[in-house]
Amino acid sequence: MRVIEKYNDSLHNPYWKFQLGPESYEVKDTPRRVQAIKDRLAADPRFAREKAGAWPEHWLTRLHPYHDYIRNTAASLREGEEFFPDLFPGEGARLPRHVDRPLQGGLWCTDAVTPIAPRTYEVAKASADTALTGADHLAAGRESAVYALCRPSGHHAGPRVFGGYCYFNNAATAAEFLSAGGRVAILDLDYHHGNGTQEFFQERKNVFTASIHGDPAVEYPYFWGYADETGVGQAEGTNRNEPLPRGTDIAGYLAAIERILEAIAAFDPRYLIVAAGFDTHADDPIGGFALQTGDYAKIARRLAALDCPTLICQEGGYNLDILGDAVHTFLSAFL
Ligand SMILES: [Zn+2]
Repeated sequence: MRVIEKYNDSLHNPYWKFQLGPESYEVKDTPRRVQAIKDRLAADPRFAREKAGAWPEHWLTRLHPYHDYIRNTAASLREGEEFFPDLFPGEGARLPRHVDRPLQGGLWCTDAVTPIAPRTYEVAKASADTALTGADHLAAGRESAVYALCRPSGHHAGPRVFGGYCYFNNAATAAEFLSAGGRVAILDLDYHHGNGTQEFFQERKNVFTASIHGDPAVEYPYFWGYADETGVGQAEGTNRNEPLPRGTDIAGYLAAIERILEAIAAFDPRYLIVAAGFDTHADDPIGGFALQTGDYAKIARRLAALDCPTLICQEGGYNLDILGDAVHTFLSAFL
């Protein structure tokens, strides 16, 4: 299996602590996450590493209205600086020409935990390029399954705003590319609901979106991910959410997988994109499910049985001790 990588992951190293309600969090999106995955896959000759290509900017600008804001803000910062918005004008706010760039932050970003640093644009674009390069292999019929080692993650970045450690939506960008060749289904397996991905396609009936995640009544992203969000207008029926309670183990998880696979099979996609987060592991410091490393083989075998060309995009997963094994176990089932 091809493993698509970007050129230099160490450039993206945000670090800060923040308070959310009564709990304080430390951001754990470190470059060591990617290194742990690379190290594990490098030990298995069945995986071949390949550098992502550089894709034209229009693949990002056609989906992300905040593309120029991220690029220009990053370019305006000095080395070592990080920009956090601190003013959030709310839904429907205007973007007058005279508003300074720092004040635009809250128009485009949902939170104060997704900073822009001097290299943010470069690394976020490279992450999307990784997904596009993988998608290109599928479109050309060269592979039946490809793994895109994306970081930063993408699934919280949507058609209006970005946030949740995500800047550009890698899986959605790949889906936009692949949808020229037929229907696409995106299955999000990260512990957190893929709100950005859902919003991109909730009015599009040629892209089916589905997500299995911690119940948003108690988990980020809170305002999205409920079971009654099923698509909008002509696309009614093309979104499926499976919010599950804390502590869900493989039995409950596989039951949700079966329900979603039935819907995906009925949709009959030409391509499948898996937004693969591994913060569903019992030992993940952020997630709340009880999956074990071996369980990822059971999940992946069910997906592989769809027999649909599949792009696997990396999303979350924050326990460096188990992340490499979890990814390796998941991908091996597609070989
Ligand atoms: Zn997550």
